[in-house]
Amino acid sequence: MSAAADVFTAAVLRDGNVELETHELPTRRPGELDVAVSLAAICGSDLHTVSGRRAAPSGTGLGHEAVGRVVGVDQGATDARGRPLALGDRVVFGMIASCGSCDRCRTGLSMKCRSVVKYGHALVTDPPFAVAMLADRIRLLPEVTVLRAPDHLDDEVLVSMACAVPTAAAGVRALGPTLPDEATVVGAGAVGLYLVGMLVAAGVRVAVVEPRGIRRTAAVRLGAEPVPAVPEGTPAVLEASGAPAAVAEAVQAVGVGGCLALLGSVSPGAAAITLDPATVVLRRLRIVGVHNYDAEDLVTALDWLGRHGARLPRLVEGSYGLADVRAAFAAAFAGDSPRVAVRPGAWTSKPRWAPAGGNRACS
Ligand SMILES: [Zn+2]
Ligand SMILES: [Zn+2]
Repeated sequence: MSAAADVFTAAVLRDGNVELETHELPTRRPGELDVAVSLAAICGSDLHTVSGRRAAPSGTGLGHEAVGRVVGVDQGATDARGRPLALGDRVVFGMIASCGSCDRCRTGLSMKCRSVVKYGHALVTDPPFAVAMLADRIRLLPEVTVLRAPDHLDDEVLVSMACAVPTAAAGVRALGPTLPDEATVVGAGAVGLYLVGMLVAAGVRVAVVEPRGIRRTAAVRLGAEPVPAVPEGTPAVLEASGAPAAVAEAVQAVGVGGCLALLGSVSPGAAAITLDPATVVLRRLRIVGVHNYDAEDLVTALDWLGRHGARLPRLVEGSYGLADVRAAFAAAFAGDSPRVAVRPGAWTSKPRWAPAGGNRACS
């Protein structure tokens, strides 16, 4: 069944500002899935887009973390696990539509597909139009991985399933098939906190480097030991802060034969570090970049949330109506909370959180 021509309202980058815009949504095509957003969150890379650190054209639909309910679906549609999808089903989904057949898709780099469509980074004037997740409605292309959401997890737990949680799963996977006994996570934004949670759940002893108290406390509640700097000889370091100095420090501290996974450095040209290649060669280091994730990571992430999500400290604080999305961005820029939430069904602001400080990228 196809929905009739409709409209969607979304946060859009317009001439450098965040604007709330309403656009027409053409009739849904076969295979596409329409989702009414129940909760969305502002990610660090949304802040990069809005601040201009990440180049984005005017008209870019903002937001790539959301959870919602199916409002438009084909008869007989299924999720990525083959379970039926019907109107009203609560779903989580990826932020990436990839072709599945190009050289990159065929070699495990679907997130770098040559014809990738990334929600939250595409234009609201190009198909499938409803590409902003800070919106009342999203139209998912057939290539997007969709999973039915577990009933026992609420929206606040699930909201980062399109970015931070699977990115952390990809970060853990990048360490290799055998996890080390110990690891250090640098930066306890959303990705860093999910890294801590996943590693601790896997039996890894985790140290965390995070200068901001609220985030550090969240990491400790997840089982990490706070340390002022990456301990010398750490077998694995997962760098999620994106601070160049932290990357340089991590390269020096990681132990012989160790792995350094870089997840936070997503602003090209922001700053450079000096690297003595002999440091990498003589100490047999492995340095791996992790940007986004693939469908396997999405499934891993949801399985992990299913087992541990109900006991996790809440990373999302506050809730703004869609009409107050600018205030939500201001809070995200100013706050220490890993995530500021937007609830499109709500029309009144309820900011419970607005502490001072910066907000780093997660991806
Ligand atoms: Zn993100
Ligand atoms: Zn491809």
